Amino acid sequence: MTTPPTSCIIPEPSPLAEANPLILVVDDVAANLRILRSLLGQTNYRLSFASSGQQALERAQAAHPDLILLDLMMPGMDGLEVCKRLKQDAQTADIPIIFLTASQEIEHVVDAFQEGAVDYVTKPFRAQELLVRIKTHLDLTQLRQRAQRRAVQEEILRQVVVGIHGSLDLKEILNQAIAGIHVLLQADRVLICQHLSGDKPPGAQWQMVTSSSGEFPPEIKFAATLTTQHLSVDDSEFLDPDDALWLQETQTAAELRSPIFMGQDFWGTLLIQYQRPRCWGGEAALARPIVAQLEIAIHQAQLYRQLADTVGQLETVNHELTRLSNLDGLTQIGNRRFFDTQFQQEWARSLREKQPLTVILADVDYFKNYNDTYGHLEGDRCLKIIAHVLGKAPRRTTDVVARYGGEEFVMVLANTDETGAEHVALRVQELLHQLNLPHISHQSSPCVTISLGIATAIPTQSMHPMDLIDRADKALYQAKADGRNRYKIAPRSDLDGATAQEN
Ligand code: GH3
Ligand code: MG
Ligand code: MG
Repeated sequence: MTTPPTSCIIPEPSPLAEANPLILVVDDVAANLRILRSLLGQTNYRLSFASSGQQALERAQAAHPDLILLDLMMPGMDGLEVCKRLKQDAQTADIPIIFLTASQEIEHVVDAFQEGAVDYVTKPFRAQELLVRIKTHLDLTQLRQRAQRRAVQEEILRQVVVGIHGSLDLKEILNQAIAGIHVLLQADRVLICQHLSGDKPPGAQWQMVTSSSGEFPPEIKFAATLTTQHLSVDDSEFLDPDDALWLQETQTAAELRSPIFMGQDFWGTLLIQYQRPRCWGGEAALARPIVAQLEIAIHQAQLYRQLADTVGQLETVNHELTRLSNLDGLTQIGNRRFFDTQFQQEWARSLREKQPLTVILADVDYFKNYNDTYGHLEGDRCLKIIAHVLGKAPRRTTDVVARYGGEEFVMVLANTDETGAEHVALRVQELLHQLNLPHISHQSSPCVTISLGIATAIPTQSMHPMDLIDRADKALYQAKADGRNRYKIAPRSDLDGATAQEN
């Protein structure tokens, strides 16, 4: 297990009290405003006043109070109209409104509630009762707002988790996570750093993996910690010197740090940074489930990576095995097995495309004599040279050259008729002639020669592929019988009246 050094842990600061609630008091009678000012002045509420309906609307829109005490009967725009307009405006619709009125009439009470008021207090009011009602409605509003915020956060969280698990690519997983955290925690920057195990110098212990801003600090140097921490530049004197420097260099006023574990092993750290000082609230609680999901996703990505590597290695080995199983050990050209598969494929293709397919069988002349004269090793060397010559003669990438067996070779030429095959055969003979390999026990030539048998067909369903090879073999036999060092073209079995052609 990797055990990083633990820096001093700053206790989580208690969130500062939110700003005191703002109450807008609306009444057209100055004396009433004074009474309310003196009553509410004894509390911690911040106060704002309006003496007309129009003024009330303007103040509500500008200051967005937490609660409105609204006089019902006012000249011009009355309280009911003010209430109605506030409820129609999305920006002010949620502000709780308590009506204050001298009217005792039941219709007014009903109207007030119908317009969206939360409460109704008649004048003269009892001070204690009014204060309790104000507090109750402020508390209720706060609870409702928290529930709404939580619902939004949970939805974002759900999307982040879905995003994290939507990929097996580590980089993508981490990017999904930081993008989600960025939105959810309204951070200025989110970073994920991987801790490198081993004895690395302090400046090389971290590897930046991803950053929401796309920018990476020039040097990553901060203390590795195993617990979630809140760091603040204001607490510099309590911080590990590395941490203090890190905050300074990344222009961070407040940072939330969460370690990321792979099982028991410390993997890295999630850093959530803010450029302004921060009163910490529920950030750690929001980050925790994301980190938990992130740990699972990173683990899965690592497993997948290992699996992919293993599969990749297996594929490479398989590929090499296939290559070797198709290669002739002596001449390093395709072997009989390679020929068999290639020939089947080219036959099928020519059948589909109704194109001519040619097979050339080549056999070294008097090779037994060659071995007897120069020895088997020289014979092997000679076969290698001939294989090389045969490999050079055809020019299309689809052309196949293979060792058919012993001192016999085969070529498969797709889309090639007898005329084309003749060119290839002549080229082989010419190249071999140029090499001028001595063969003193040859019966009719001073150097090594080969004989070739050529057969062409446009495959049809009724033909058998082996027939084409048989015909090439017969043509080769004929070339041998006619004196060797020559090619012979088999008569076309798919052409009526065709006869064998001689070179
Ligand atoms: P022909 O002109 O009629 O083809 O006569 P040939 O002597 O070439 O034919 P034959 O079939 O009588 O002899 C083929 C010889 O090729 C015999 C065999 O030892 C030799 N041979 C086959 N494979 C190899 C090999 O891998 N290395 C060596 N050195 N010789 C081989
Ligand atoms: Mg032979
Ligand atoms: Mg031979």
